[in-house]
Amino acid sequence: MENKSNELALLKVIEQYENIIIAKHVSPDWDTQGSAYALREIILNNFNNKNVYVVGEKMNFGTREEDESKLTEGIISTSLLITVDVANFERVDFEFKEKVKEVFKVDHHLEVDNFGKGKLVDPSAIACTQVITLWSNNCNLKLTKLGATYLYFGLITDSGRFLFEKTNGKTFLAAKILVEAGVIITEVYSELFLKKLELAKWHNKAFSMAEFKNNNEIAYIKVTSDFFETLNLGEEEVKSALTVLSGIKEIKIWALAYQTPGNENVKVSIRSRDFNINSVATNYNGGGHKLASGAKLNSWNELDNLITDLQDLIE
Ligand code: AMP
Repeated sequence: MENKSNELALLKVIEQYENIIIAKHVSPDWDTQGSAYALREIILNNFNNKNVYVVGEKMNFGTREEDESKLTEGIISTSLLITVDVANFERVDFEFKEKVKEVFKVDHHLEVDNFGKGKLVDPSAIACTQVITLWSNNCNLKLTKLGATYLYFGLITDSGRFLFEKTNGKTFLAAKILVEAGVIITEVYSELFLKKLELAKWHNKAFSMAEFKNNNEIAYIKVTSDFFETLNLGEEEVKSALTVLSGIKEIKIWALAYQTPGNENVKVSIRSRDFNINSVATNYNGGGHKLASGAKLNSWNELDNLITDLQDLIE
C-alpha cells in the first residue's frame, strides 16, 4: 500500500519538473547505471517536454557522463534530482546534489539515510532495476526495448542470474515484463558474461592470489593500486574476480579489496551466503545488503581488523 502511493508520488513529481537529473552511486555497477539509463528512457518516452540528464561516472570508463557538461546553475537549481540505487546521500555521485530544487530517492537498499523529499524504496527487492520495472509496469508506462535491456542488465547482475537469496516472484515478474518488452536474453548474457581473454587471465590469477583464514572459511584477494594499473581493466571488471571465490563450499565469506590508482582509500567488496556481513561493513564506512556489502578503508592498515571482524561473525 505504502509503495503504491510512493509509485504515484514518483509519477507526480516527474510530471511537475521540466528538468530532471538522475544520479547513480559512486563506483557505478549495472544496477545503478541500468536504472539511470532506463529511467531516462522511460521519462523521455512517456512525458512531454522533459530535459533529462544522467550524471556521474560511467561504469568501467572512469569518465563522466556527457550530460553532466550540459548542466548550468540555472538548470541545476530548478531540477528534480532522482537518485537510483543509492542508500546514503554521501554516495550520490553528483557534485551539485545540494543545489537542486528537490530530491527523490529510488532504491532497494536497507534504509540507513532518509534523504529526499519523496522516495520509492523496496529493501526486499533484489535490484533497483526491479523496483523501476515494476513501477513502470504498474503505472502503465511505455517501456522500449532499449529501456528494458538496461533494466535487465541490472536485474541479472544484482541477482547473480537469479541465484541470490532475495530473488523471488517479483524478480521473475520483472524479468517477464522486460522480456516481453523486447529484451533479447542471449545478447545480454553475451555482453555480460562472454569474457575477453584479459579478464579470464585476471580471474585465473586472482584465485592464486587469494588468502585464506579460519580454516578456509574466509578468503580474500588484495589488489594494490600498482597491480590494478597493470591489469588494464575497469573497476567493475577487476571486482568481478570476486566470482572466483563464490560457490565454494568451504568459503563462507569472501572479499576483494582493491585500491584504484591515485587513491589512498581501499574499497572492499564483501559477499556471503549466510552471514550478515553488512553489520561489519557499516563499521568500515560501508553498507549495502545483508549478503553483499562494500566498505571503504582509509588505508591497507585497516584490512586486518576488517578480516578479524568477519572471522568473529562466523565464530
Ligand atoms: P560492491 O561490493 O561495491 O558491489 O557493493 C555491494 C553493495 O554494497 C552495493 O549495493 C553497494 O551499493 C553497497 N556499497 C558498496 N560500498 C559501499 C559503501 N562504501 N557505503 C555504502 N554502501 C556501499
